[in-house]
Amino acid sequence: MMTPESWHCIDCGYDTAPGCYDRAKMEKALAASGSVISTADGVDQTVDDRSEIYMVRDKVWRQAGMGPNSGCLCIGCLERRIKRPLKLEDFPRRHPLNTMPGTPRLMKLRGQR
Ligand SMILES: [Zn+2]
Repeated sequence: MMTPESWHCIDCGYDTAPGCYDRAKMEKALAASGSVISTADGVDQTVDDRSEIYMVRDKVWRQAGMGPNSGCLCIGCLERRIKRPLKLEDFPRRHPLNTMPGTPRLMKLRGQR
């Protein structure tokens, strides 16, 4: 999985991946461990019910004024930017990021529990 510069929502600062390393931390971990990061190196990346890691369709992301490397947005700020509630169709169903655990509001949007 790619590691963004920061997992914090660029609008409100919400940490969308409290169990994951951002780029700086990841690079440090990589430097310390050689090349390959594994959980054996103590670099546990966890995605759980505090995480808002997801993928929406390009169109939705662009509507929010975002590009491929613009950073992260939490669900609340994404909805505020596109001025409507997100819906199931906004999330590409088969995308791996949309099969991971997430906050209750994210799971509900994606029709998961
Ligand atoms: Zn936010």
